[in-house]
Amino acid sequence: MKFVLTTPQGIEDLAKREVEMLIKSAGLKGKVEEKPSGVEGRILAEIEESYYLDEKGKKREFEIASFLNENSRLLHRVIFQLSSTKLSNLEKEKALQEIYDFVSNSLIENYVKISESFAVRGFRKGEHEFTSIDVAKTVGSAIYDKLSKFGTPKVNLDHPSVIFRAEVINDVFFLGIDTTGDSSLHKRPWRVYDHPAHLKASIANAMIELAELDEGSVLDPMCGSGTILIELALRGYEGKIIGIEKYKKHLKGAMMNALAAGVLDKIDLIQGDATRLSHYLDSVDFVISNLPYGLKIGKKKLIPELYMKFFAELSKILGKRGVFLTTEKKAIEKAFEENGFKIIHHRLVGHGGLMVHLYIIK
Ligand code: SAM
Repeated sequence: MKFVLTTPQGIEDLAKREVEMLIKSAGLKGKVEEKPSGVEGRILAEIEESYYLDEKGKKREFEIASFLNENSRLLHRVIFQLSSTKLSNLEKEKALQEIYDFVSNSLIENYVKISESFAVRGFRKGEHEFTSIDVAKTVGSAIYDKLSKFGTPKVNLDHPSVIFRAEVINDVFFLGIDTTGDSSLHKRPWRVYDHPAHLKASIANAMIELAELDEGSVLDPMCGSGTILIELALRGYEGKIIGIEKYKKHLKGAMMNALAAGVLDKIDLIQGDATRLSHYLDSVDFVISNLPYGLKIGKKKLIPELYMKFFAELSKILGKRGVFLTTEKKAIEKAFEENGFKIIHHRLVGHGGLMVHLYIIK
């Protein structure tokens, strides 16, 4: 079985590693490829079907898609691949006709019952004369016409039972079923307080992975609604987890989120100013933080001074490593340099329509 898995751009290597580990932990066999056909934010997983005996001794198929949806921390979507083909002509009318014919010849009826409603979500990447809406409409009518042989198909664009994904990437057409649903996996059920600049949980987990923690203490000095700390606590981290946030509203939000996640007792949350870090803590082993960028909240011109003061304080207490995310490359690199920090890793990560700089320092 083939699955197309989505994740934020820039953390495909970590998502691939996670999927390989999950496959292994479930005793499954398969191979995983990052950025198939050079498409960023994607992983292709080919996993062998597997069976188990239930409590009544009946042979059942292991539900790989459910397993990935339930256990991944880095993926956004798990899409089951039905079929794919190379388009022979990219001219609008011809390409759309070819897509229609291809879908009509696919065994759609095996994947959606006539009693179930469906919708098609389109996606397109590359140079084309048609839009992703054209692709979705074409595939939608092909599926409708095909299912009409069995009764009256039900289309429900808002709350469908089955979501088809129809994608054209350069000259490749792909048809799949989105097993995740319309709400991406990064939207965690524990998020009851919605911070205006919250971090995607998938990226928080990528930062946690990159920190290579060893059960030493972990601090997020500008923790907002607590995403990094909550995700860390949910992984069963044994070390001390500390959060500092300047504003009461966000700190209360972090507490509400931690409570909803069932990890409030695992995190020390302090209302405080990160530019006075040594006032609250004598030492900390690791720092992981999504710093303010001055875009959604706060003023951009205050960022260089904030970073400079914060890293000056951090240099007094940091024992091992720090992982930071910001759009403010110049300001952060200056603050690293002037406070004696060395960059040991840098990458760009896609977050909220921006490419954000991720640094590991010591
Ligand atoms: N990762 C967080 C989340 O997922 O909710 C969002 C962090 S947000 C980008 C940055 C946070 O830093 C904001 O909540 C802001 O209030 C806080 N902040 C700004 N200046 C601060 C300071 N001097 N000390 C502590 N927190 C500060």
